[in-house]
Amino acid sequence: MSDAAHLTKAVRGREKLAGAVFDALAAKTRRGAGICRASYSPEENYAHDLIAEEGKRAGLEVSRDAAANTYVTLPGKDRKAPPVLMGSHLDSVAEGGNYDGAAGVVAGLVALAGFKDAGWTPARDLTVMGVRAEESAWFQVSYIGSRSALGVLAPDVYETAKRTDTGRSLAEHMVECGGDPDKLRRGGAPHLDAKRLHAFLELHIEQGPVLHAEGLPIGIATGIPGNFRHPQIVFTGEYGHVGYAREYRRDAALAAAALISGLDRLWEETLATGQNMTLTVGRLFTDPANHALTKVAGRVELSLDMRSTDPALLKMLEARFQAIAQDAAERYRVGLDLGRRTSAAVGVMDDTIRGQLLRAAKTLGLPHKEIASPASHDAAAFSAAGVPTAMIFVRNDHGSHNPDEHMELSDFMDGTVVLASWLAEHGGK
Ligand SMILES: [Zn+2]
Repeated sequence: MSDAAHLTKAVRGREKLAGAVFDALAAKTRRGAGICRASYSPEENYAHDLIAEEGKRAGLEVSRDAAANTYVTLPGKDRKAPPVLMGSHLDSVAEGGNYDGAAGVVAGLVALAGFKDAGWTPARDLTVMGVRAEESAWFQVSYIGSRSALGVLAPDVYETAKRTDTGRSLAEHMVECGGDPDKLRRGGAPHLDAKRLHAFLELHIEQGPVLHAEGLPIGIATGIPGNFRHPQIVFTGEYGHVGYAREYRRDAALAAAALISGLDRLWEETLATGQNMTLTVGRLFTDPANHALTKVAGRVELSLDMRSTDPALLKMLEARFQAIAQDAAERYRVGLDLGRRTSAAVGVMDDTIRGQLLRAAKTLGLPHKEIASPASHDAAAFSAAGVPTAMIFVRNDHGSHNPDEHMELSDFMDGTVVLASWLAEHGGK
């Protein structure tokens, strides 16, 4: 048996640990129908303490940083060599599922525990990170834990970000969970120096239907989508009687419909060329104070999110969107205000690691495919900081951010073994 095969077998031998951690998390953090591990809450603390405890029990090193992120490390031969970091977040949305985030932390823990059982000392430190506060639902800020660790979260956020349910500041919640926001605000050397990280790997449940629909246990990410968003696009026409002749109308509802159907055609055309994107009009409404069955709509508001893993395509899509919106406004003689624009950069995956993960899955005989990540992940924060980054997806039924999220332990172990195999063959060398 080769070294790598011997090591991945030891990792497979730790399946029970994975099951036990998922069961404990579900038992202790279920609230109502779903799981609720709010960012910087007692439930999130429970998850961090559990990972730390199991890490210690497996004979691994455990530490925390000023943002109260948890690190579990299998020490390498050269402790000064840039470490491999892996992991994901331990918080969840309200009424969420048990695996979104936690799967990535448990995968790292199980891999390191298996390596320890096998008596392997890697060339460099291998560390799994339990990340705090990834879900932007709680503080309306994304990647709080990973960006704090990397020292790239704006210092004012600790005071200005308030948790949506308590109204209290991020700093206050952080202190309650053993963090030190003053230290983070002062800046100085961050806990993680992006230039001194060998790689960042994140295993995560897939949040789309692709792997389930195609009967594949795992996927390797081609990229994490960047996006541009307009939270409030407004078409302003003129309210009028329903009998008003077409040529005199200024109908905001038809203009909005023209924009949406134009974007839908653009989506179909783009997919036909083999490129990936998605677009969503999440909010769409006439003004309830003024609309009526017998009135031409004088005002329509809508939101738009367009995303892709290809930065050049995203730029082209934005130009096309603006032209389509302009055409719709002109055609129906209405005013157009695109309102505020926000954007997020594409999370680029490291080609070398991607290729190595694909080869690992193939060698292990595990059915897989390359897929674009449908959602945002901590990995995007590491990629943005310049760390070579890759992601492994695990099949999951019923999407995520809901209580019906469902992952099979056997699929999880397949993903974990791909991660372990990469660590044994590449990351730990
Ligand atoms: Zn997640």
